[in-house]
Parts: sequence; C-alpha cells; structure tokens
Amino acid sequence: MGNRDNTRRLRPIWNVIIANNQGWTCRRCQKPIRPGEPYDLGHAADADPSRTHETHDVEPEHPFCNRSAGSKARNKLGKLNPSRDW
Ligand SMILES: [Zn+2]
Repeated sequence: MGNRDNTRRLRPIWNVIIANNQGWTCRRCQKPIRPGEPYDLGHAADADPSRTHETHDVEPEHPFCNRSAGSKARNKLGKLNPSRDW
C-alpha cells in the first residue's frame, strides 16, 4: 500500500521529466513513451542500482509492457511453487 502511495506521489514528477525529455524510453520494450501518452509506473528492481535519482524505484512503462511483465512474473512464481504436486 505504501508503494501505491509512492507511485501516486511520483507521477507529477515523472510527468515533468517526460515533458522535459520530450518522451521516455520504456525500459521493457525500448520504445518511446511520448509526452501525454498513458503510462504505468513499474518497479525497477532490475534497473541500475547506482542510480540515486529520487524516482529510482519506479520507471514509466507502457501499460501493456507493465501488464505482460507482471503476468510473466506470476507464471514464474507458479513454476517455483508447484503446490499441486504435493
Ligand atoms: Zn514498452
């Protein structure tokens, strides 16, 4: 729940960053997210840990990319926990 609050707080910051950069590169598909385009803020657990920017823990992603990544993570988790076999 705290994470959700953080994401909401960071959106105005990211809106400015995206506008200043004339867009942002989605780290999942490497395609641009244009200013004004809808985006999700995804947790960047696999991002460069040396980043010290205040927004280091989340990054803009296409909503489609964010959802497909979560789906893959759930599938992986299911394979790691084969509860049906017990
Ligand atoms: Zn993407």
